[in-house]
Amino acid sequence: MQTTPASVTRLIDEFSELPGIGRKTAARLTFFLLRNQSDLTGRLADALRELKERTRFCSICYNITEDDPCPVCADGGRDRSAICVVEEPLDVLAVEQADVYKGLYHVLHGVLAPSEGMFVENLRIGELLARVRGGGVKEVILATNPTSEGDWTASYLLSQLRPLGVRVTRLGRGLPVGGDLEYADAVTLSRAMEGRVEI
Ligand SMILES: [Zn+2]
Repeated sequence: MQTTPASVTRLIDEFSELPGIGRKTAARLTFFLLRNQSDLTGRLADALRELKERTRFCSICYNITEDDPCPVCADGGRDRSAICVVEEPLDVLAVEQADVYKGLYHVLHGVLAPSEGMFVENLRIGELLARVRGGGVKEVILATNPTSEGDWTASYLLSQLRPLGVRVTRLGRGLPVGGDLEYADAVTLSRAMEGRVEI
């Protein structure tokens, strides 16, 4: 006999699809929402709907934005000769908070990890190369995470960028090895940006 209503099971199933959420946590979240007296469920539903309806990728840098081009790409005060390449939109946020960089960005949306099905064509690599080929870019800063996949992705990008005659740099040491850019504090990140080295 089915004792759990289908609508409850459905939400547990959907939560379970999220990264880092097992079935137990999914069930806990679902029952928390069921018991919650405020309009949290309604606000959550609205937020989820708006997430897809109002956001898109910037057609230049592929950061997540409500306006295309995004505020960074549209800002005439930014240095358009530099592109900082990051893995995820959250990394843009981290670099912006460090307040040390005034160029543009390019979001790859992942790293090369063939074992996880992430190949060159799954990332925004072709779009990056097209931007550089388009001219006006003097420096590409490879700011992928200091993990083995991040380093490997940076090496691949270097091999593709070098023939284009652009200066390629990598963030300086000081970032926690194996860590994520998004968790680095602003001081560490600004030091890494200032200490970037040509590769
Ligand atoms: Zn943009």
